[in-house]
Amino acid sequence: MARKLLLTHINVPGIRTFDVYRQKGGYRAVEKALKTLSPDDVVEEVKKSGLRGRGGAGFPTGMKWSFLAKPEGVPRYLVCNADESEPGTFKDRYLMTHIPHALIEGMIVASYALGANTSYIYVRGEMMPQVRILERAIAEAKQAGFLGKNILATGYDLELYVQPGGGAYICGEETALLESLEGKRGNPRIKPPFPAVSGLYNCPTVVNNVESIAATVPIINDGGEEYAKIGIERSTGTKLISAGGNLNKPGVYEIELGLPVEEFIYSEEYCGGVANGKRLKAVVAGGSSVPILPANLILKTLKGESRLMTYESLADGGFQSGTMLGSGGFIAFDEDQCIVRNTWNFTRFYHHESCGQCSPCREGTGWMEKVLHKIEHGHGTFSDIDLLVDVAKKIEGNTICPLGDAAAWPVASAIRHFRDEFEWHVTNGQEAQTRNYGLAHY
Ligand code: NAD
Repeated sequence: MARKLLLTHINVPGIRTFDVYRQKGGYRAVEKALKTLSPDDVVEEVKKSGLRGRGGAGFPTGMKWSFLAKPEGVPRYLVCNADESEPGTFKDRYLMTHIPHALIEGMIVASYALGANTSYIYVRGEMMPQVRILERAIAEAKQAGFLGKNILATGYDLELYVQPGGGAYICGEETALLESLEGKRGNPRIKPPFPAVSGLYNCPTVVNNVESIAATVPIINDGGEEYAKIGIERSTGTKLISAGGNLNKPGVYEIELGLPVEEFIYSEEYCGGVANGKRLKAVVAGGSSVPILPANLILKTLKGESRLMTYESLADGGFQSGTMLGSGGFIAFDEDQCIVRNTWNFTRFYHHESCGQCSPCREGTGWMEKVLHKIEHGHGTFSDIDLLVDVAKKIEGNTICPLGDAAAWPVASAIRHFRDEFEWHVTNGQEAQTRNYGLAHY
């Protein structure tokens, strides 16, 4: 049985309340940090843990914290990115819904480490139930003396606010999020400067994902070195994976990093195999923004090694034959799923969510959507397939924020690995949209 650090008490009745969370050992990390460790000690433990950002980029959290500028007399902020919107990703929502105090406790520990006295949780606009759950949890924590002035009589003050988001995918990009938090339209800023230098109201700011912040709790409780013992190489600790698509047991799983992908898909402890006895055709392993891989390449690398759920193993082979762990949104497609239709669907999403600031993304996502619609509906030509590759190439790397790459990679990888399926749509015209289509890619 895999170790659980975040979801240990997920099935305890009432764990959403302060009292039950506390009875189960909650807020020990706050007591330990504030009473026995200096802010720098806390940063050091997080560095030792090897924790990498769980929002998708995998940037080392301790390193990000140590980059925070500390000019005299200027406030610093911690902002939690709870704008989870990546298609296929619903693990932060799960954590906030069921164990909100794990996030609140992590926010206090992290704010203390960063020297922030005001911190924000920016929650996706569509998640109003979670906003209310977090507000209730904050009120409970404050009542118990874990927030507000002079927390636990240590002299440390912290106010924590929940801010509903702007209802746009782009507001999950950290600088667009900061713009939105400041009350402006959520347009991404050019980086550098990174938020660690100039973030909220131009002050030094750390933006961390919900899961990353919650992970600081077991790191402080057990020590960074203990946390680093779990996992493989530079992928330490546990990771929440939201599994969806054609699986027998979709849901949110806490895995130890290093778990073989095959075990994750087929073992009863996790997804229990592909639904309805079908064969696996493809997987998007890290939310829709990462390259799609056919079944053979998600299970084994080109070198024939078992693919593991780690940042390194999933990326093995680069974009030719690998992908990314990303946000942990794991979407499985069975043999009956149409890759062209799915790619069109993802592209529609990115076109709709493009903020319009950069021409390659604003125009390119629209063009890709139109061409994919044409192919999917049986009116495409062979040159349309090359046109898609060309447009995707022109978007990639040419935009202010990663939304452009996120839109380009699914298209480029779908054509790279499933070109025959696109060609089949061109050759078979109208028939292509009237029946499910599955070529063998096992
Ligand atoms: P990034 O690699 O640009 O940055 C990662 C983090 O490290 C940021 O907080 C950034 O400020 C910080 N950073 C990087 N270099 C730094 C430096 N030199 N100094 C200080 N700080 C530095 O990636 P990103 O744009 O934050 O995120 C992209 C990822 O987001 C994608 O890979 C995708 O997987 C993921 N994503 C997740 C969701 C979701 O809902 N969870 C949605 C969309 C995208």
